Amino acid sequence: MPIRVQCPNEACGKVMMVKDQFAGTKGKCPDCGQAVLVPALATDDLPPTKKIKKPASAPVEPPLPATKKIKRPPQGPL
Ligand SMILES: [Zn+2]
Repeated sequence: MPIRVQCPNEACGKVMMVKDQFAGTKGKCPDCGQAVLVPALATDDLPPTKKIKKPASAPVEPPLPATKKIKRPPQGPL
């Protein structure tokens, strides 16, 4: 099943169908030459991580601490 990859270059935005054998590899957009990362094969339970688009002119922001929610099952009397 080919993977649908879109060129990250906003001025290009070309959509390519990449063979799944190239999943997780880097390629080049045939139109603009922009490096394109082919995502690994998606699984059903893991949504693909999306990068938040930031304007290129924005100042460098300090990285936000990752919010980790540790779910613990309620411990009740058995
Ligand atoms: Zn492109």
